[in-house]
Amino acid sequence: MNDFISPKKKIPVGILGATGSVGQKFIELLTDHPWFEITALAASERSSNRLYKDAANWFSPTVLPDYIAKMSVQKCKPNLDCEIVFSGLDSNVAGDIETQFAQAGYIVVSNAKNHRMDEDVPLLVPEINSDHLQIIKKQDFGNGKIVTNPNCSTIGLVLALKPLVDNFGIEAVNVVTLQALSGAGYPGVASLDILDNVQPFINGEEEKIESEPLKIFGKYEEESIKNIDFKISAQCNRVAVTDGHLECVSVSLKDKVSESEIIKAWKEFSAEPQKLDLPSAPDNPIYYFKESNYPQPKLHKNLDKGMAVSIGGLRKCNIFDYKFNILSHNTIRGAAGGAILNAELMLAKGYLNK
Ligand code: NAP
Repeated sequence: MNDFISPKKKIPVGILGATGSVGQKFIELLTDHPWFEITALAASERSSNRLYKDAANWFSPTVLPDYIAKMSVQKCKPNLDCEIVFSGLDSNVAGDIETQFAQAGYIVVSNAKNHRMDEDVPLLVPEINSDHLQIIKKQDFGNGKIVTNPNCSTIGLVLALKPLVDNFGIEAVNVVTLQALSGAGYPGVASLDILDNVQPFINGEEEKIESEPLKIFGKYEEESIKNIDFKISAQCNRVAVTDGHLECVSVSLKDKVSESEIIKAWKEFSAEPQKLDLPSAPDNPIYYFKESNYPQPKLHKNLDKGMAVSIGGLRKCNIFDYKFNILSHNTIRGAAGGAILNAELMLAKGYLNK
């Protein structure tokens, strides 16, 4: 039962890195958001003091809202007229800029990797570890706080693994990703490097997928997060798909279970964002398809507002116990949509009351 009452007045929010791949998705998802209203856009020196329509190369298939087109892009300095900043900043600069905003009293909801593994920063997936939000009381920014969401491949993986962790226990995971081009930012990979090609390496990606789930599934106790203990091996590939990361996963489980028990656990999975009826929460976090050639980026990336993970092809594995394929939208569930859901959860649970 949701006893949270939506805010009477929309909360002013800013977007750091508003011109980039994730920044544009923030604009798309926050336009007409019931609780938040965009009041500031910021990016690099190159873009600042220019109208958004001139600074950004808008490549979304939706029309750039007129009021956004006419907004002036500002520098990423903590003097923006807003309470929350959503960060889609390049990781080369995100760490320091996000710290400065938190120190100045802003709530920073970030996509960048820089603060994800800080011990007092939640690496939040609202369906999995909303209790980790408690760790922000250890941050010493005063009213300012930093909350992060995981790497875009990690998020699909952990949503698919959550019912398995809870019901059967996990011993080991192997994952091979086929990641979309929008995951590399804008303008991203040069066309001649990816057309008629696959890039079998993405710098720093394996390490994130191998470490982040252990924190996400960690236990919050004695005011700290104790990582879960299982091994993950990841290999990452860039493929010529616009949006939607496909991942081929193999798992060893602690309990010996049937395929139908796994499918039942996936189909029945629902969590706090669904109970709270958060605006960006998918109705169903997981969609299972019995078709062995599903899921596919073209068909399933936008399922349930692009906020769900699709799973298909569950079958026995000769080395691990089971293998299956998963798909999630990298700039929605894996970035902007995931971050907005984090902010909605914070608001609904009283973490944004000054
Ligand atoms: P992107 O398209 O390259 O955008 C980067 C943004 O950072 C641009 O707005 C850019 O502004 C700004 N920026 C660069 N240097 C800056 C500086 N010195 N000062 C202030 N702003 C600066 O990258 P992206 O794909 O949107 O990714 C943004 C962040 O989200 C990264 O940390 C990335 O790892 C993470 N992330 C991305 C995805 C995804 O699917 N793309 C998913 C999850 C997480 P200008 O246009 O003015 O240069």
